[in-house]
Amino acid sequence: MCEDWRDLFAETPDVLKSARLQQTIVQVLDFEIGGDEFITMAGPCSVETESQLLATADHVRRAGARILRGGAFKPRSSPYAFQGLGLEGLKMLARAREESGLAIVTEVMSESDVALVAEYADILQIGSRSMENYSLLEAAAHSGRPMLLKRGMVATIADLLCSAQVILDNGNPNVILCERGIRTFETAMRNTFDVAAIALLKQVSHLPVIADPSHAAGHRDLVPALARIAVVAGADGLLVEVHPNPDKAWSDGVQSLDFAGFDSMMADLSPYLALREMTQRMRVRPWRETVGSCSVEAVG
Ligand code: PEP
Ligand code: MN
Repeated sequence: MCEDWRDLFAETPDVLKSARLQQTIVQVLDFEIGGDEFITMAGPCSVETESQLLATADHVRRAGARILRGGAFKPRSSPYAFQGLGLEGLKMLARAREESGLAIVTEVMSESDVALVAEYADILQIGSRSMENYSLLEAAAHSGRPMLLKRGMVATIADLLCSAQVILDNGNPNVILCERGIRTFETAMRNTFDVAAIALLKQVSHLPVIADPSHAAGHRDLVPALARIAVVAGADGLLVEVHPNPDKAWSDGVQSLDFAGFDSMMADLSPYLALREMTQRMRVRPWRETVGSCSVEAVG
């Protein structure tokens, strides 16, 4: 790694690649995030009804997703918008997990909800609006669950890495970074997808990086293109909003794909994923060993 990057991120030494740790691999159920497999997390923005969630879980699983997303606690820009079903939503997620075998990622917004959400979730999502809430990060880290840390809307890459460092400092090595677009002067899209951040994070950090093209684009038409770009930039996976009937969604319908749209996005990704696989095979891997839940690789 170039020494300049090391200087820029000097406050967060433990998230940076080192000779000892080149890539963290997060084990979830029977698969890995940050390993060879490209992991797709898909589902509705909000958990609404059991039938909505079960139909979506079944569909995205058949199309290749490994993880079901869905918010039971929703951070909304408007205080008057739907705030999520809470415990009832978590129970629906548990049912969907049981029926589909998919792992669950869902957001936790408050320190006081960590224990409850951790009972139901395989991965705790920390939303953009919470990225710098260090007491929430500490409490969530102590749950022992892997954490999907979304970049704040106005957070620099260094800020994101500071939040990741807080989680590591609290004894939880299973941090997954998520680029979901940032606020810029551009208003045509909901956010500006910072694709360079994905490439940079993959160069400097050993933590897995997931791309969220839905919140970046803000419109479903753009989601498949941003998903392809994320694969080429080196992301380890995607977080995508999918809904059986996006026009009727209780939140983020405009950016949600319907089932056919998700199928076609996944089909369009396959040549890019094949290229990714080929590139990975070409990398030199002189040795590999496992320490705890993290795989350690040295690059020659
Ligand atoms: C979400 O994933 O639905 C969400 C609210 O995301 P963000 O925190 O990135 O806005
Ligand atoms: Mn959303």
